[in-house]
Amino acid sequence: MQRSEVLEQLSQYIAGKVLDGKDIGLNETTPLLEWGIINSLEIVRILSFIQETFGVDISADKMVADHFANLASLTDLVLETAKEQQEKWHAHDKKSPDYDVVVVGGGPAGSTVATLLSRWGKSVLVLEKARFPRHHIGESLLAGTTTLMKQLGVYDKVEQAGFVHKFGATYIWGKSQEPWSIFFSEVSDEGRFSFQVERDKFDKILLDHSREIGTTVREECCVTEFIRDGERITGVKYVDAEQRSHSVSCRFCVDASGQSALLGTSMKWRKFNQTLRNFALYTYYRGGKSAVELVPDLKPRDAGNIFVVAMERGWIWYIPLGSGRFSVGVVTHGSLARELNKENRLQFYLDCLNSTPQIRYLLSEAERETSTLYSQSDWSYVCDSFKGPGYLLAGDAACFVDPILSTGVDLAMEGAFKAAIAINTLLDEPELTEQALCWYEKEYKQRLDTSSRWLNTGIMGTVSVMTGSGKRNN
Ligand SMILES: Cc1cc2nc3c(=O)[nH]c(=O)nc-3n(C[C@H](O)[C@H](O)[C@H](O)COP(=O)(O)OP(=O)(O)OC[C@H]3O[C@@H](n4cnc5c(N)ncnc54)[C@H](O)[C@@H]3O)c2cc1C
Repeated sequence: MQRSEVLEQLSQYIAGKVLDGKDIGLNETTPLLEWGIINSLEIVRILSFIQETFGVDISADKMVADHFANLASLTDLVLETAKEQQEKWHAHDKKSPDYDVVVVGGGPAGSTVATLLSRWGKSVLVLEKARFPRHHIGESLLAGTTTLMKQLGVYDKVEQAGFVHKFGATYIWGKSQEPWSIFFSEVSDEGRFSFQVERDKFDKILLDHSREIGTTVREECCVTEFIRDGERITGVKYVDAEQRSHSVSCRFCVDASGQSALLGTSMKWRKFNQTLRNFALYTYYRGGKSAVELVPDLKPRDAGNIFVVAMERGWIWYIPLGSGRFSVGVVTHGSLARELNKENRLQFYLDCLNSTPQIRYLLSEAERETSTLYSQSDWSYVCDSFKGPGYLLAGDAACFVDPILSTGVDLAMEGAFKAAIAINTLLDEPELTEQALCWYEKEYKQRLDTSSRWLNTGIMGTVSVMTGSGKRNN
């Protein structure tokens, strides 16, 4: 073995050990001493250099050092090689990010993208600021989500959770007060249904499933900053539950932070829909009546329908969550978010429920489950772009239309599904990066357009366009 090769090996060995955080004892270098290539004095000096540079505790064997004291000095050369090696390791570190993908946010969009990428062999970290289960709005799902759940392999777990089956939606919307319904079976197979979910439980099932597939999930970790190399996002900074700061690097980053829309906000990409600047107030009731008692045309299984009633100041949702529990929300004009203070918000909400005869009837024997009145406003927006160098936006972080047709979770999960395909492609074949990201953005925007068209035709009063056979009265 050439002396230079031995030096190379030694320096690699030392650098490797030190960077691994391991202690180095003199004994480990004795083969080199025995070859007579370096002397013990040099080793002592190398070891003290390492001690100073890296702060590693080193034990030197004085006996060995004394014995080899007269051998020729190669110290400088060894030190130089070790330094070079150290630089190489740091450079190598930069090229090997901590994860293939970091996902910000563990809602339906974040967990969907993470589950798929983990299943396809990528290393994925999800950073979620809350600890699940956590409260969330968006309980009434469309039938498309069940297909996505099956593809994720989580359907059985969702079914076992016992959520209410939803076969369709019943509306009182238009000039007539006569209720009308639309069913998933009108556009799909007979018996097609979805779920009315308690989002705290549902989102936890999806996130836990992702963890089981291999995703690293860190809850109570709030992302505070995206790390950039030029325009390219190469990682994130976050703060954990103990307020400790961390950085993590990745080959690709997904912003699935929901309505926080971290990137869309910081890039000033969010464009709000000025005609849908709405405001929602909602809470939960126990002991409500089923809409089946109100609408004679409905079959017993339609007790799981979402019931939507138009009223003078907006509209009301009435979602059965099982065991007599209902989510009841009032959607009204956004300007009221500023006009109403905490006390008169509740009064306004109750007035809306009481002045709507159908809801008054359904809640006549019900009790409010909690004193908390939740609110949300300004949710209708689209970001100018859904992608950039090293990142994309998924779910509500990219866009959201309106809750009236319950499209949110479906849109978020379907978009995330396509995001995972695009990311998997660009990680495996970097030369296809631009193509993959453009495909994702185009697909997602097309799906968004479809939802917006449904919304416009629905609001204008031609919901039958959606189903080909839906009834309406205006
Ligand atoms: C009034 C209203 C009613 C709705 N009703 C329905 C409905 O009936 N049906 C339906 O399908 N949809 C509904 N939606 C829409 C639905 O809530 C969303 O579309 C859906 O939750 C989007 O999923 P997501 O994963 O993109 O975002 P989210 O579910 O919001 O998940 C985002 C996650 O990111 C986390 N996060 C945020 N910031 C950070 C950070 N800095 N660091 C780490 N984590 C972070 C959050 O804690 C959250 O868990 C409704 C929306 C509104 C406003």
